[in-house]
Amino acid sequence: MMNPIQRRKSIQVNVDGVPVGGEAPIVVQSMTNTDTADIDETADQIEHLHLAGSELVRITVNNDEAAKAVPHIKEKLIARGVEVPIIGDFHYNGHKLLPGYPDMAAALAKFRINPGNTGTRARDKNFCTIIEQAIIHDKPVRIGVNWGSLDQQLLAERMDENNQRSTPKSSKEVMLDTMVESARRSSEIAEDVGLASDRIVISCKMSGVQDLINVYRRIADELPYPLHLGLTEAGMGMKGTVASSVALAVLLQEGIGDTIRVSLTPMPGDDRAEEVRICQQILQSLGIRSFVPQVTSCPGCGRTKSTYFQELADEIQQYITRQMPVWRETYPGVEEMDVAVMGCVVNGPGESRHANIGISLPGTFEEPAAPVYMDGEHYKTLRGDAIGEEFKRILMDYIERNYGQQKESGQQEEPVESSSEPVE
Ligand code: SF4
Repeated sequence: MMNPIQRRKSIQVNVDGVPVGGEAPIVVQSMTNTDTADIDETADQIEHLHLAGSELVRITVNNDEAAKAVPHIKEKLIARGVEVPIIGDFHYNGHKLLPGYPDMAAALAKFRINPGNTGTRARDKNFCTIIEQAIIHDKPVRIGVNWGSLDQQLLAERMDENNQRSTPKSSKEVMLDTMVESARRSSEIAEDVGLASDRIVISCKMSGVQDLINVYRRIADELPYPLHLGLTEAGMGMKGTVASSVALAVLLQEGIGDTIRVSLTPMPGDDRAEEVRICQQILQSLGIRSFVPQVTSCPGCGRTKSTYFQELADEIQQYITRQMPVWRETYPGVEEMDVAVMGCVVNGPGESRHANIGISLPGTFEEPAAPVYMDGEHYKTLRGDAIGEEFKRILMDYIERNYGQQKESGQQEEPVESSSEPVE
């Protein structure tokens, strides 16, 4: 199917070997929530996020201890063979930490600066100090405007001007205008100081979906730099996932966005990498990039005989997710595969034919048989108590045959033997 998305043209920025913008694939990124001063914990989480698919990982650099830890975190990751660019997130004191800890600055792949958090009276001077450090260390920066920490001085000036108008804009409109202005103004200052245009990424994050869409459409038109997309403070669980997905989907469909992050609030103990998987799923659902085989399953209905098909769909989805870090290396291309697990034969065979491999479990009053389809053809019908296990075996065999070594050598294996009946 032709992908109708026309990417917005932007300058390309190289983040330590990961291209962002231009023709480069849209990059998935995430951020740690460990204390950066804790070298082991932070290195572990960076590795975990990277293994889940995060192509850039951001860490906060908020004090002297964190700054001292950064080169050690980087060394640990290199020793483990983890090669992922690490981005330093600076607020309030980046103008002191970056010149004070040159090894930290050198170890980072990019600096994130929030122009609303570089000071009050000395905000431009401090901002320029960070830009000078980026130039000295040859690092790109993300100018990350955030409505929760918008440059208050600039906002107050624009609010005052608005109040003098005969027909003032709403305060929301002024705030959105100021977000765009802050991004534009900061990028102009950065270039004036000497930072090359291909060392600048921009974000203008907001927590409201319509506001985010509005402001990104404007910066996409007005600025030439790659855009980091994300709904800030998206919230928890389903709310955060849905809000982020709808906001990012609208913009990505319009070709806006060169790197994305989903800012979910995890419950204590939740897997931080969930935000990485959501980013991947957003891109894969839009047909932009493929990361993991997709499992199609029906919602079930009164025809569904038991919860068995839901359990099987869930089991297969989880199995695939767990295997992907290994499969990515051993079965290249497997991320394009579609698997269907359906509750009965009403839509089951049809959906299975459209998938690479699919199964329809028997519904109420249906014959206790589960037809399996492979590449659009009926492959065999499974019966008995071990349908799930057999289907997983057939699935693994299919993966091995189509994405493994055999594919390269052109060999084809015979279908696996099973206790089930042969193709009818
Ligand atoms: S495929 Fe069958 S079980 Fe699933 S929703 Fe449709 S009719 Fe119901």
